[in-house]
Amino acid sequence: MPSTQRPRAIIIGGSLGGLFNAICLRKIGWDVQVFERSPQELDSRGGGLVLQPGVTEALHFADASPGDDFGVPSRDRIFVERDGTARRVYMPQTQIAWNGLYLRLRQALGSAAVHSGETFGSFTQDEEQVTAHFASGESVQGDLLIGADGPASTLREQLLPHHRPHYAGYAAWRGVLPEQALSQRSEALLQNVFAFQDGPHHQFLSYRIPGEDGSVRAGERRQNWVWYQKIAKGNALDALLRDRNGHVHSHSLPPGSMRDEEILSLTTAARESLAPALADLVTATPDPFVQLIQDFESPNMVFGRVLLTGDAAFVARPHTGAGAGKAAADALALAQALQVNPADLHRGLALWENARLPENRQLVRYGVALGRQIMGS
Ligand SMILES: Cc1cc2nc3c(=O)[nH]c(=O)nc-3n(C[C@H](O)[C@H](O)[C@H](O)COP(=O)(O)OP(=O)(O)OC[C@H]3O[C@@H](n4cnc5c(N)ncnc54)[C@H](O)[C@@H]3O)c2cc1C
Repeated sequence: MPSTQRPRAIIIGGSLGGLFNAICLRKIGWDVQVFERSPQELDSRGGGLVLQPGVTEALHFADASPGDDFGVPSRDRIFVERDGTARRVYMPQTQIAWNGLYLRLRQALGSAAVHSGETFGSFTQDEEQVTAHFASGESVQGDLLIGADGPASTLREQLLPHHRPHYAGYAAWRGVLPEQALSQRSEALLQNVFAFQDGPHHQFLSYRIPGEDGSVRAGERRQNWVWYQKIAKGNALDALLRDRNGHVHSHSLPPGSMRDEEILSLTTAARESLAPALADLVTATPDPFVQLIQDFESPNMVFGRVLLTGDAAFVARPHTGAGAGKAAADALALAQALQVNPADLHRGLALWENARLPENRQLVRYGVALGRQIMGS
């Protein structure tokens, strides 16, 4: 690594949280180096997100404004019954695509600061610096080590070995399909709306997001759906998380890896329980994916020169719509705290932690309360 006079942040994880940290810290003059385990770009994965103020604030701070046509607006929320009838409530909002936000962040950062295919293993720190060690054998020194390595964080494992996310007893089956693939009845129901179908112990929701290339033109966008259903720990959950190659995943199953038996039981359940226009979305999706719903609260975010941010620090249920917004808010607040305390790193970090801990805790608990309302118990 080249030597530099600027303070350096070593960032573990090149997903949204890591990239938000990188662009915000670079804006205040830091040298940033992002280390991502995946050798490939992550842009072909992910579904939709509700655009949260935290996301746009962090993008603006880092001069990475997304422009006016970043998302797809919806006007109403509709609450659909099994027979297809719907109640309508005016509630405008904007939906974006995970891959569109990821690409915007990557574009803003440039490729030189991102090291793909580097798996973080461990760290050491003293009063002057922190050193990160990677599976490749490389070691990197810096002023700060930022754990943006997600819910199964390796960095957190070292800092807080007894703290792990807790499975909430249900999962989100998800899918994304081109709007051209929608049936007539789906298209008629789902234009300009954010749709829900609630039922005993399950909830289905769907909304429109930009196309894979970011287009928000009619006919080129995509329809995103999410179906929360209970699934107890044990054989059924293990079977769901076993992919086409026999590998059992820990908390999510990416698109293209769900086994045919699982896809068949998903489409059968959709025909039995969902309104026909919503069931059509599930049956038309060739590569559904799964994410387990988890809760996690870290007792701290600062450990000397080492930090936990985003989903490594707090996992909030997706009902809050806040995963990306929370990661962006952590990153923006960190850059602002360090910017106003340039001569005293530890004071800046303490201010950041004092601000973010209570807010993140509240969000996780709000997600638990929403989950109880939606799923029962
Ligand atoms: C591919 C992908 C798709 C997603 N799609 C959606 C979506 O459609 N909708 C939604 O609401 N949320 C989605 N999420 C979750 C959402 O991005 C997060 O809730 C939020 O942005 C905050 O996450 P994060 O960046 O802190 O952690 P994450 O997004 O979980 O990212 C953690 C990153 O760290 C990397 N990593 C883990 N361990 C190591 C290690 N030891 N060394 C180096 N790197 C490591 C992982 O490969 C990953 O890229 C997705 C996450 C990913 C990774």
